[in-house]
Amino acid sequence: MLPAVDEPLVARMRQFGETIFAEMTRLAAETGSINLGQGFPDTDGPRSLLEGAIRRIEQGVNQYPPGPGRVELRSAVAADRAQRYGLEYDPETEVYITVGATAGIAAGVLGLIEPGDEVVLFEPMYDSYAGVIALAGGVRRPVTLRPSASEGGRFTFDADELRAAVGPRTRMIIVNSPHNPTGTVLTSAELDVIARVCRENDLIALTDEVYEHLTFDDAVHIPLATRQGMRDRTVAVSSAGKAFSVTAWKTGWVMGPEPLVRAVRTVNQFLTFTANGALQLAIADAIRDEMAWVGAQRDALQRKRDRLAAGLREAGFEVLRPQGTYFVMTDIRPLGFTDGIELARALPRTAGVAAVPAQVLYDNLDEGRHLVRFAFCKRDEVLDEAVTRLTRHAGR
Ligand code: PMP
Ligand code: GLN
Repeated sequence: MLPAVDEPLVARMRQFGETIFAEMTRLAAETGSINLGQGFPDTDGPRSLLEGAIRRIEQGVNQYPPGPGRVELRSAVAADRAQRYGLEYDPETEVYITVGATAGIAAGVLGLIEPGDEVVLFEPMYDSYAGVIALAGGVRRPVTLRPSASEGGRFTFDADELRAAVGPRTRMIIVNSPHNPTGTVLTSAELDVIARVCRENDLIALTDEVYEHLTFDDAVHIPLATRQGMRDRTVAVSSAGKAFSVTAWKTGWVMGPEPLVRAVRTVNQFLTFTANGALQLAIADAIRDEMAWVGAQRDALQRKRDRLAAGLREAGFEVLRPQGTYFVMTDIRPLGFTDGIELARALPRTAGVAAVPAQVLYDNLDEGRHLVRFAFCKRDEVLDEAVTRLTRHAGR
């Protein structure tokens, strides 16, 4: 029997309902809509990766791996990080495998934030950050990313607003680049501003780099940990889902100096204890052998971005062109709409297309009211059909 209280959920989580991604995917399924809401590809990852996992399962790799993850994957992650970014991590003590980036982020926040500590982060913010900060009893201090007219709508932050968000209780900054949902890839100059704020205020940085491979045109991903003084104050998180188009595999990794990784490990052993085993071995091989596949996937995604962006523009949206990720942000006001939540809740029924209203990713709701995110990680014919439906919906 349930305890006799009106609301059994703990008070600090009552501000949260179903995540927007789950809601929109459910709405898409109920209405038979094209789902450009939740970001997942509709094609598979590299064949060798899938076969590698099947082979390991058949070979009996089906019991608990070590808590920190299989050493094969920790070593592959460390070697890759060293080769691509010049960042050295000891696979024994400085790399730790988690159930997706989500668990790494959760354990990082829960292990490093005291109740009442403040966390600076950029809005729109990926929804799990707010959830785990609340679980930890922390306080969000959002800095708004805004489209810059001089950069073709690229979202960026104001350095003074960032500095003003930091106070005596600030303990951590969360930095997501390439950024979901705006597609911004932070430049070395922007990262240097953030790094300076971290050094001057003795902050820990938690970086979410799950889209590290998915950057377009001449944008390149630069880890914050490469900036002056940052390696030893940064917990970097990434995962296999986006790199290899296997979002269901939920295998991520945390990299940082031993004391910070130890904090993650101490918490995570009581959250999930460990992650899958067979998949870890298959991913370790793919990190070594399938980077050409990842590069080709990146090129294909860039073309998909261009395809969907052009279609959305024709359908009347203002397109705020992304430099990376799976997503394109749009301003709906040229179509005569003002509220993205209203539009996104209606679109599956009225147009047969699902999208994500960006407003739910803001604390300052007015900043995101008119913004709607579309995912372009779909087959070309699916993108084209979505554009046809949206164009018809707009009466064009
Ligand atoms: N961070 C961001 C910015 C994301 O978009 C996602 C969603 N894929 C995650 C973290 C979660 O990654 P994972 O599926 O590896 O937990
Ligand atoms: N990262 C995906 C997105 O932003 C969704 C992941 C999720 O459903 N939690 O669409």
